[in-house]
Amino acid sequence: MARMNDLANTPQPEPNAGRPARQRKPDWIRVRAPAGEGYHETRRLMRELNLNTVCEEAACPNIGECWTKKHATVMILGDVCTRACAFCNVKTGMPRKVDPMEPENTAIAAAKMGLEHIVITSVDRDDLPDGGAMQFVKVIEALRRNTPDTTIEILTPDFRGKMRRAVEMICEAGPDVYNHNLETVPRLYPTIRPGARYYASLRLLEEVKAHNPLIFTKSGIMLGLGEERLEVHQVMDDMRSAEVDFITMGQYLQPTPKHARVEEFVTPKAFDAYGAIARAKGFLQVASSPLTRSSYHAGDDFAQMRAAREERLAKQAAREKA
Ligand code: SF4
Repeated sequence: MARMNDLANTPQPEPNAGRPARQRKPDWIRVRAPAGEGYHETRRLMRELNLNTVCEEAACPNIGECWTKKHATVMILGDVCTRACAFCNVKTGMPRKVDPMEPENTAIAAAKMGLEHIVITSVDRDDLPDGGAMQFVKVIEALRRNTPDTTIEILTPDFRGKMRRAVEMICEAGPDVYNHNLETVPRLYPTIRPGARYYASLRLLEEVKAHNPLIFTKSGIMLGLGEERLEVHQVMDDMRSAEVDFITMGQYLQPTPKHARVEEFVTPKAFDAYGAIARAKGFLQVASSPLTRSSYHAGDDFAQMRAAREERLAKQAAREKA
């Protein structure tokens, strides 16, 4: 398997060294098993259209709820990633060729599911000269042509080494929301996200706003990987200094015993406290709960964020008038 992150050959601390591989999940993490006609219809549609979803590939705990409501997050550019992050369940290796039908098929899926809001993400494609940016552009264009009323949220990789041009191309295609997750606090990057750089990810978020301040930006972190409270507060400040509009915080869950261990199950009360701090720091929208994921309830959150921006702008205009 080809691993393209540059620390792959450097000895790294073992995430699970000397500890039991898995911890029992607390009651607040338990979810219902996927079932029901809506779930099966979503599954059939994805198979028919040859689309991958992060819901399945990342073993998302919310799949039962989301797919029953016919909400799925399409993962473009294949199901094989060129990175090997310690938290992520997606396969690592040498990806296959880009599917030219993927943009149209994504638009067909959005139309058939009747989506008002769609979230599109991808694997990392460090093997492609543009990191896969053009495929994001084609998907956005296909959605605009076929389902013009659907709002579009994209969740991209960091496009390492190609970020400026990639962000420029994607911003010109005009998504409504641009999400790029910081995933964890900077101290944990060498073990949890070894192929990425914290400040490069922050710069990407800044770059989106520099291109088009009207695009909402969004970023998230997983909690329970061993981060300290003040480090989480610092990440919030860093996001606000990059003018990020929306922060998501959810519990990290270990997908297999080979992945990084859960250091702590953060309580719902602690998630609420983080949420309150994030709101006080000025984010337009905050999602903070054990089961929060980037795309969980993304449509409702988008509507609330848009309303919050309008309210903030109206207040600002009133102050300037007074
Ligand atoms: S939260 Fe997102 S990734 Fe998880 S099942 Fe729902 S849409 Fe899919």
